[in-house]
Amino acid sequence: MYCLTGNSFSAGLYLHIPFCLKKCAYCSFYSLPDRQNFKRYLAAVSKQLYLCSTEYPLTSIFFGGGTPTMLPPESLRKLLDECQQQFSCVEDAEISIEVNPATVDLPDLQALRQAGFNRLSIGVQSFQDQELQKLGRPHTAEDAAQTVRLAHKAGFTNIGLDLMYSLPSQTLRTWKNTLEQALQLAPQHLSIYELTIEEGTPFASQQQRGELPLPDEDSVLQMLAETQEMVRQAGLQRYEISNYAKSGFECRHNINYWRNGSWIGVGPSAVASIAGTRSTAVADVKEFCCRIENGQDIWQEKETLESEAAFRETVVIGLRMTEGVSLLELYRRFNIDAKAYYGETLTRLIRLEMLEITQGYLRLTAQGLLLANTVMAELV
Ligand code: SF4
Repeated sequence: MYCLTGNSFSAGLYLHIPFCLKKCAYCSFYSLPDRQNFKRYLAAVSKQLYLCSTEYPLTSIFFGGGTPTMLPPESLRKLLDECQQQFSCVEDAEISIEVNPATVDLPDLQALRQAGFNRLSIGVQSFQDQELQKLGRPHTAEDAAQTVRLAHKAGFTNIGLDLMYSLPSQTLRTWKNTLEQALQLAPQHLSIYELTIEEGTPFASQQQRGELPLPDEDSVLQMLAETQEMVRQAGLQRYEISNYAKSGFECRHNINYWRNGSWIGVGPSAVASIAGTRSTAVADVKEFCCRIENGQDIWQEKETLESEAAFRETVVIGLRMTEGVSLLELYRRFNIDAKAYYGETLTRLIRLEMLEITQGYLRLTAQGLLLANTVMAELV
């Protein structure tokens, strides 16, 4: 027997809101470039919430998308109320919502704060208008900065900004400028992802036609090196491969994912992980609504990993965090001794200074963090 809950006594809730102003050129998430059918969607999600249950209190609720703020604040408040009525939450639960600039004004943000959201994740991506245009983002750099200022005014004290590097035509100079502007806004949290070209997106087609001038590998490494330095100087700690936070502002909802914990997934395309089974909901609003209305199963995929596969997955996801994975926790959860299990592979990766074991935690070294995918491929 094994327990798939990172922290055995808590769970998170993710609610997917699949509407956007328009599709960005790099996006492969399930979302629609409008909010047609949103009333039918709201009714279906309410019903799904009513049918969900967990024996654990929620430590986090995350409204993501899509662009959750495509829905009226009143609808978001009602949805959050329903989540809190259906589940017990710990007293200081982290309640996040993703916000895109150009979709909110001050009254909207005040309404979200009053509704009980206590953390914002703002999709900025870049502070260069030309880069934003190429990404197909429906906002300017100034819109993004203004959203952060309004969020402060509305009383939010836990604000995360999402940024991307390795963008088409981006240079080290424009990236540093984006980062400087982000840091001037004094966010508590930064998520900084390298652009990846996903199949089926406009960027993938442009790349195939040779029309996507991405920075070369050396420039990308320089951007990453500058990022570490600038973010460190601003007082944010890297706590996950792509995430940085002021002390105490690490995203609890995402830490639960990286610890391979349990979470409820609500809405079309949402993923849930409960009692060792990972389920993915159908990625189509109409189909999702039809299935809910007719009392049918919304899950289009279900997978239950056997114990060793779940152990390896927990190691690999856990290594994304700079604290690493606790060997004792792994043993308690899976009854597997990681050192004995990985044997020579682990010894070699430690000898190569890619991994280290410190105070009972297996973690990537600074060099290992640069080659994380290669190291993880050996342990998966
Ligand atoms: S706003 Fe986010 S979810 Fe919507 S299209 Fe752009 S990247 Fe995708």
